[in-house]
Amino acid sequence: MAFQKKHISILGSTGSIGTQTLEVIDQNPDLFVIDALTANNNADLLIQQALKYKPNAVVIVNHAHYQKVSDALFSSDIKVFAGKEALEQIATMNSTQLVITAMVGFAGLLPTIKAIESKKNIALANKETLVVAGEIITTKAQEMGVNIYPIDSEHSAIFQCLLGEFHNKVERIILTASGGPFRGKTKSDLKNITPQQALKHPNWSMGSKISIDSATLMNKGLEVIEAKWLFGVPSEKIEVLVHPQSVIHSMVEFEDGSIKAQLGYPDMKIPIGFALSYPHRYKNSFTRFSFLDYPTLTFEKPDTSTFKCLNLAFDALKQKGNICCALNAANEVAVELFLQNKIRFLQIAELIEHAINTIQQIKKPNLQELIDTDKQARELCLLQASKHA
Ligand code: NAD
Ligand code: MG
Repeated sequence: MAFQKKHISILGSTGSIGTQTLEVIDQNPDLFVIDALTANNNADLLIQQALKYKPNAVVIVNHAHYQKVSDALFSSDIKVFAGKEALEQIATMNSTQLVITAMVGFAGLLPTIKAIESKKNIALANKETLVVAGEIITTKAQEMGVNIYPIDSEHSAIFQCLLGEFHNKVERIILTASGGPFRGKTKSDLKNITPQQALKHPNWSMGSKISIDSATLMNKGLEVIEAKWLFGVPSEKIEVLVHPQSVIHSMVEFEDGSIKAQLGYPDMKIPIGFALSYPHRYKNSFTRFSFLDYPTLTFEKPDTSTFKCLNLAFDALKQKGNICCALNAANEVAVELFLQNKIRFLQIAELIEHAINTIQQIKKPNLQELIDTDKQARELCLLQASKHA
């Protein structure tokens, strides 16, 4: 079958998802044209990627690295820009059909909105944008006729289970969770955890923020909120099931009691590939799954009394409005403080709880009110952390 070349831009091309997206493209280089690549600080890797993939333009967000990138690409036709505004603009480039949002955190919100407003389909890894502004983003995507293809492995699994089921009601979404590096540990075990210990995930190699989120189970909490917005399913119908082997990537149960699951080797390149190739599947040479290597698949309930973040996310989702935005902001700040050894592991959940209980509620926030909530929740979190320092 002959496929047409797809024009894509990768926001956050130097990160874990960004570099794996380029590995997916390496499998079928004739099927893609790269319009733009962007990075926050990693100028060296951005330069290397630009020289290899020859995009139309690159953005280095941190101005301090602009001269270096500009000098290195001087003799090429590649345009070089710097700054946050350039990141927003690059997402709107005329020729681009699909924007891969592979940057981390709240910083992805405005570029994603700009891309949707200019009718680009989105391959979404940056789950924080849906946590912060799920309602605004999904409504805008519908208005603009834009599709959002999930990259997160669980959501890709659910998306694949739902294909061909458009008219059938979902009874339950079963979101699987590895349980992270501290599954089975008690609260007292977790008191003196170091960032180095928390960064070691048993099944996936990922950026530092999502690795800490996986260790606290906040990643699963963010994914519950992400699933709500991607699939329009209320939180009561979303169940989290710990499955330490990470082979079943998630499941959907329908009204007749039938359950569909999507399985495979734990490799992010597979869901990334499907988000890039949908509705097709492109051949690749990635590791294939063998059932004999995994003779036992196990399942257990999440330990929500030790890992409080998961229920904080469910609570925030039930409260609606700007509370999920506050949850996300406080989490971003708390994770950063933990990585800098300024707070202890268990304080992450405490700081988030304080922020979502203290922030002023807004039932139907607009974009500016979400930007304000983000700022206020960050300040609340920093202030509270300084009291316990
Ligand atoms: P990462 O830290 O490895 O990479 C982040 C990328 O974003 C880098 O290219 C960096 O330059 C860029 N970036 C960072 N801060 C930025 C800012 N303020 N402005 C603009 N660009 C910025 O992160 P990652 O693990 O690749 O995760 C990216 C996103 O994908 C996150 O939202 C994460 O939750 C999600 N995700 C990751 C994985 C995974 O396996 N890594 C799996 C599922 C979902
Ligand atoms: Mg995931």
